[in-house]
Amino acid sequence: MLNDAEMLRYSRHILLDEIGELGQKDLKNSHVLIIGAGGLGSPAALYLAAAGVGSLVIADFDTLDVSNLQRQIIYQTGDIGSDKVVLMKNRLQSLNPEIRIRTINQEMDEEQLLLELMMTNLVLDCTDNLESRRLINRACVKAKVPAIIGAAIQMQGQLMFFDHREDDSACYQCLFPDGEEQQLNCTNAGVLGPVVGTIGSLQALEAIKYITGVPSGVKNKLKLFDGKTLDWQTFTIGKDPECPVCGQKNECSY
Ligand SMILES: [Zn+2]
Repeated sequence: MLNDAEMLRYSRHILLDEIGELGQKDLKNSHVLIIGAGGLGSPAALYLAAAGVGSLVIADFDTLDVSNLQRQIIYQTGDIGSDKVVLMKNRLQSLNPEIRIRTINQEMDEEQLLLELMMTNLVLDCTDNLESRRLINRACVKAKVPAIIGAAIQMQGQLMFFDHREDDSACYQCLFPDGEEQQLNCTNAGVLGPVVGTIGSLQALEAIKYITGVPSGVKNKLKLFDGKTLDWQTFTIGKDPECPVCGQKNECSY
């Protein structure tokens, strides 16, 4: 049961047919791991904390740089030089004191990540590099934990969702076999703040839908967002039977 304060705080959720009191309880009982406390993680974490996700774990190992402030909207100018996860936790906890927030202020290896996933219902991949993305993908496939993946570069955004609890789910590796994705990143190519914010917000939307049982519009799909035209393109991602991560010829040694 939700208490009176929770009924009031989340009243605009509870009014929704898609969520209601039961969905709000699902949110309260959920454990979400957000990896990356940058331009995607900022809006995603704010929305999930505001939505009453009961347990949030924030993982990042960076300190705030002045060049982050153009898009990482959870931070303030006076925060420069401080650890992002500490800043993010403080901000989220003041937004919603009722939820539990834990931080991981280090780069996780696969073993650590797999341990973390034992306590996680859902992962938001808000990272900005391919090495982390592949590591998170391998661990989520292995642990059968769903992952909502966001990416943004220049004026373009990407959104994907793989429900690794399902045997026929594709994975990030099926979509981008080694070396086939673009090598640009925000540091060398730039990114427009609201473009990355749009994708981070949609990661939060898909997370809330997943937790409350609303069907996803992006499962096993790649959605490409063009910040110039505001057009979206949708590609269906088929599971690759030869995929070294999720395919039958799984070569990964766990
Ligand atoms: Zn795969």
